[in-house]
Amino acid sequence: MSVWGTGILNGMRISMRNLLRGPITVKYPHEKVELPERSRWAVEMVRDEDGAHKCTACMACERACPDYIIKIDVTTNEDRSKHIDRWGYQIGACMMCGLCVEACPFDAIRMGHDYELARMRPEELDVALLEATPAVGPKRKAAGPSAEASALETGTDPTAGARGAEGGRT
Ligand code: SF4
Ligand code: SF4
Repeated sequence: MSVWGTGILNGMRISMRNLLRGPITVKYPHEKVELPERSRWAVEMVRDEDGAHKCTACMACERACPDYIIKIDVTTNEDRSKHIDRWGYQIGACMMCGLCVEACPFDAIRMGHDYELARMRPEELDVALLEATPAVGPKRKAAGPSAEASALETGTDPTAGARGAEGGRT
């Protein structure tokens, strides 16, 4: 059996607590929120302090994307080195699942924290993360397991076998 007036007191207690609490909203766009480290927005290239990228053009991310929105145009030179003509990515169609980042054997891409992704024109949603740049060369040492090292040497995708078994795109 409840005591008469308990509900009113509980309601007043909650009202007082919210009355004294500071605002949890921000005055966007003048103020911006700090996103949690693991939040996922658009894909971006990882670059070192000199601005160099880590992409080997192995194509693992392109094959892993369930939306087929990564399109990497690569030219293979006579010495088997690769040249990235364009590392294309359609932001507007990305569902920020992070599968491309997980598939990358070289930690060359990551999910960024930039949430201001609106563009004035639809064509601006098709962006190039890399353009006209050499891929990281086949002589580079891989830090990961031997399959990744092999991928570096041959320029192949170390996850291709697993995907084939799953019936993924080849
Ligand atoms: S986050 Fe998901 S949908 Fe977006 S590019 Fe990567 S794999 Fe594709
Ligand atoms: S190194 Fe990473 S970002 Fe570059 S093509 Fe391979 S999977 Fe994609």
